[in-house]
Amino acid sequence: MKKNDIIHLAHIILNAHISKEDIVVDATMGNGHDTVFLAKLAKHVFAFDIQKQALDNTMKLLEAHQLSNVTLFHETHEHIVGLVSDFKGVVFNLGYLPNGDHSITTKKETTLKTLDMLLSVLRPTHFILIVVYPGHQEGYEESLAIDDYLKSVDSASFSIIRSDLPYQDHRPPYLLFIQKI
Ligand code: SAM
Repeated sequence: MKKNDIIHLAHIILNAHISKEDIVVDATMGNGHDTVFLAKLAKHVFAFDIQKQALDNTMKLLEAHQLSNVTLFHETHEHIVGLVSDFKGVVFNLGYLPNGDHSITTKKETTLKTLDMLLSVLRPTHFILIVVYPGHQEGYEESLAIDDYLKSVDSASFSIIRSDLPYQDHRPPYLLFIQKI
């Protein structure tokens, strides 16, 4: 098993659900790898991050790939619903910026707030994909909070798939794929 198997799986799922007519959101652009992946599949990508460094890195990567169908927001993902309408899906790759300041990481309070807002506006067949990293302390607490929250979600209204690496040590990452039924 490679360490990035969950990202690989996320990309297979995204490939199956996104087409060139779709608008999608990258809630945590980071170094822009997911933004680039989404921009190649979708009509337009709206990407969010609270760090200026993330926007700079993502802009460079988009230029290198000659992609222009992306709007970058230097904003918390809590503003997605106010800034983007009619999206097919939202992708979260939680945690901290690789090679960046590890103290700036996604937080359970804001992640749950955004998740709750998104579920309230999600349309049938539209999706939220989240890669969760419980391997660091803040990420572990975030994973428990997400788990608690999703237990309270109406299972008749939402399909929630969780994909794990059950035999890997050190609390490996896992994937959540949520769809409105
Ligand atoms: N998708 C990225 C990529 O392909 O490189 C990796 C994302 S990185 C694991 C997580 C990112 O979430 C960090 O860049 C961090 O700044 C960002 N972040 C943390 N809290 C955020 C928030 N409230 N809104 C938007 N981004 C946030």
